[in-house]
Amino acid sequence: MQTAREFVENYLRNEMRFLEAAAIAFPGGPFEAGPMQDILDVSEFERRAFVVVSGAVEGCRTRYALRRRSYGWALDDVQWQCSLCRRHGRRKKCQLCQGKGWFSPGVRE
Ligand SMILES: [Zn+2]
Repeated sequence: MQTAREFVENYLRNEMRFLEAAAIAFPGGPFEAGPMQDILDVSEFERRAFVVVSGAVEGCRTRYALRRRSYGWALDDVQWQCSLCRRHGRRKKCQLCQGKGWFSPGVRE
């Protein structure tokens, strides 16, 4: 059975292959494959897992929320680390993450 770490490593490799192909297909376009992201932390539970990676943009860590399936893992959500709470400490009144430290881009709770 694939581990959560292996799932995210595979996901990041596929994403990089896509970006490399897209950058060749659309020169001067918005696609650019950055360096391979580092896996910083893995928390694996019975049904869920969280894998933190260094992120495509420096200083903007990304967390992959996974859900266990019979065949392995499925991607549930991609969350960004809250830069406000990271800099100033977690606050429940934070407009980005409500003190959770992570938020889903484009999702307002
Ligand atoms: Zn925050």
